[in-house]
Amino acid sequence: MAIAKKTPAEIVTQRFEYAPAPEATEHVKVEPRYSLFIGGRMLEPHSKKRFPTINPATEEQLSEVAEADEVDVDHAVVAADKAFGPWSRLSPSRRARYLFRISRLIQERARELAVVETMDGGKPIKESRDVDIPLAAAHFFYYAGWADKLDWAFPNRKPRPLGVAGQVIPWNFPLLMLAWKIAPALAAGNTVVLKPAETTPLSAMLFADICRQAELPPGTVNIVTGAGKTGSLVVSHPGVRKVAFTGSTEVGKLIQRSLAGSGKRLTLELGGKAANIVFEDAPLDAAVEGIVNGIYFNQGHVCCAGSRLLVQESIAEPLLEKLKVRLSTLRLGDPLDKNTDIGAINSKAQLEKIEGMVASGIEEGAEIYQPECKLPDRGYWFKPTLFTNVSQSYRIAREEIFGPVLSVLTFRTPAEAVEKANNTPYGLSAGVWTDKGSRILWMAERMRAGVVWANTFNRFDPSSPFGGYKESGFGREGGLHGLLPYLELN
Ligand code: NDP
Repeated sequence: MAIAKKTPAEIVTQRFEYAPAPEATEHVKVEPRYSLFIGGRMLEPHSKKRFPTINPATEEQLSEVAEADEVDVDHAVVAADKAFGPWSRLSPSRRARYLFRISRLIQERARELAVVETMDGGKPIKESRDVDIPLAAAHFFYYAGWADKLDWAFPNRKPRPLGVAGQVIPWNFPLLMLAWKIAPALAAGNTVVLKPAETTPLSAMLFADICRQAELPPGTVNIVTGAGKTGSLVVSHPGVRKVAFTGSTEVGKLIQRSLAGSGKRLTLELGGKAANIVFEDAPLDAAVEGIVNGIYFNQGHVCCAGSRLLVQESIAEPLLEKLKVRLSTLRLGDPLDKNTDIGAINSKAQLEKIEGMVASGIEEGAEIYQPECKLPDRGYWFKPTLFTNVSQSYRIAREEIFGPVLSVLTFRTPAEAVEKANNTPYGLSAGVWTDKGSRILWMAERMRAGVVWANTFNRFDPSSPFGGYKESGFGREGGLHGLLPYLELN
């Protein structure tokens, strides 16, 4: 029997059909209502108010969470303040033991946490399972290691904790951002009041249960749910000595203004508009994977997403051809399906923002490309999108879209690449794809970005500091640097 041979072009464009591979959800119990985690107990909110949290892939309500008001936030800060003395005086190796225990419990409950994170936020299960949850556990593990070595980490500086840390986190990596905030704070001997994002509170509620399982002293970690108002109550509470915020630049600026003169320590991790720069000597197939990972990972809801592709003019055509073929193989749909690459957009509001930005790109004259793919009937979805013919002045090249939308620009020389990459008010991350090590170092020296990835993108490790320049914020999270904002050094 003669076998019909496929041409290389046919092979790369060949689409495979995948049978459904849904992750099991039976082992996950989402309570119909959650209260506030204050002083080691789940407390009814003083406000008596609750709000729904929904699954953005189905629009179904998952649960109702409490809306913390001024009295609730005050209770939480008082509980954290009361816990601060004993926690900060605890022997460092015992503090470390609690953090190791939390890390271990996150690992034990990883499947449950991944499913909840995916249902509440819309991200593909393979990402929550393989990235968010393991990294969250790794953060606690890493900072557990520092807890009893602070005197060695900062020799002759007598490191001391600050007190109560007020922490506000966004919806794109809910448990991971919680870990980035809570692990270094506790390792350094502080106590915490944390507010998760309104649309993704559930993994923080499971974390509250993990704190109880770990027998963490009551009040060491307190979790208050609510909307932006609750966040502002946390950061402005006079009992809070240190504020850590991750979210939009707009809210970051508001917080900075409101804290001016208060004496509170502040770190801000804000937006980005990263350049992912591909030189003509780069391995193109690898670069295509890096571009896809850079912007379509987590539906582009990533502060350090490679949302601007800068490609050297001489290879723009073949690279874009390969990229479009790759885009057509991305599978969009049920986030709980293990084969899904692109999940649901986190909320209706975020979907509308993305749609508005894409409409502005078309209006300003950019050329849009979207692969053929069917969007589910319910839920919030956006096709992976690519814009060519983009000018630097277009909004899609300047503003954070926070969605699966890539703007492609070209350059001719390394100097032009640097100029264009730095032509942004942000400065969180960048990527360089080239065969030459010397060029990587040359570029990294000139790029105004907190992280520069070389021949890879979106790689994270607890030991590696992360943070921004310019309007992307200040302060570092991760690594030894991540302890500094939580310590007083004499
Ligand atoms: P926000 O900056 O509003 O939200 C981040 C966190 O801050 C949430 O917990 C939010 O609560 C809380 N918050 C809101 N207002 C205040 C306030 N005045 N004081 C203290 N805390 C506050 O981001 P959005 O969710 O509104 O997203 C808007 C845009 O921001 C996105 O489209 C994206 O471009 C960008 N963004 C960037 C992120 C990043 O990591 N760089 C993360 C998230 C968003 P609540 O959830 O209830 O609003």
